[in-house]
Amino acid sequence: MNLESTVTLNNGVEMPWVGLGVFLTNPGPEVEESVTAALSMGYRHIDTAAYYRNEVGVGKAIRLSGIAREELFVTTKVWNTDQGYERTLRAFGESRKALGIGYIDLYLVHWPVSGQYRETYRALEKLYRDGEVRAIGVSNFLVHHLDDLARHSEVTPAVNQVEFHPFLLQPELLAYCREHRIQFEAWSPMTRGRRLDDSTIVEIAEKHGKSAAQVLLRWDLQHEVVTIPKSIHADRIRENSRIFDFELDADDMKRLDGLDEGSRIGPDPDTF
Ligand code: NDP
Repeated sequence: MNLESTVTLNNGVEMPWVGLGVFLTNPGPEVEESVTAALSMGYRHIDTAAYYRNEVGVGKAIRLSGIAREELFVTTKVWNTDQGYERTLRAFGESRKALGIGYIDLYLVHWPVSGQYRETYRALEKLYRDGEVRAIGVSNFLVHHLDDLARHSEVTPAVNQVEFHPFLLQPELLAYCREHRIQFEAWSPMTRGRRLDDSTIVEIAEKHGKSAAQVLLRWDLQHEVVTIPKSIHADRIRENSRIFDFELDADDMKRLDGLDEGSRIGPDPDTF
């Protein structure tokens, strides 16, 4: 397994297990440099969103990389204030133009905006049928949102991107997605850097001669969860990619799972 290794989504599209996240990465040189660094190290998957205001820089770095479009996997998302059928189609056009890389690989409903996400998703289904996007999915959807969407849509989401790390395991959501072939994807996989000094994580990291960040990212892979670590620093972008040369054993996995306290870094999808 390496940075190019992929999981096959429920519609047959291949998605790399590891990508670069760019939330809180500034537009302009900062995002261009981090995407350029990541691509040069072998990353083939970038996770952005209209909300991050850096799609232009992501697209520019991708075009300048010279890497063939079909070798890359790019995700973007429709923001909450753009939800609804017509507004979503408009927002998609803007994201597509900002990125300037032709099609989008994965387009996500960023948050389940109550009373609107069904119509938003209907627009995603149109974009999918029209061939503008290779796969569609959701983000921050809980089981009840997914159940509701299943009753009011035709295309099963390919992905659900949610906050996921040992302090927020959400086993029922994970099981639901597995059962329905919705690929689970972790945001804030490294707890946004906040819990990397946890003694259990540090102990396991020392045992394997790895960093705490690498342990958390490896934990994602062993749970069959796609992961999108963010950094603006080349040395960390490289560090976060070196997770294919070690394996957590059953005891490590159990101890990490045992850290679950249902605590979030980001907002609760029911009250955001
Ligand atoms: P991460 O868990 O990826 O952590 C990023 C933070 O950790 C940054 O402060 C970074 O600092 C630091 N960091 C990176 N690598 C290391 C390392 N090896 N050691 C120590 N610290 C490190 O958090 P994010 O919230 O950024 O989540 C990842 C991605 O998920 C986002 O960038 C975005 O693409 C997506 N996301 C999606 C959301 C959604 O609602 N769908 C919500 C939030 C995120 P520095 O950059 O200075 O290196």
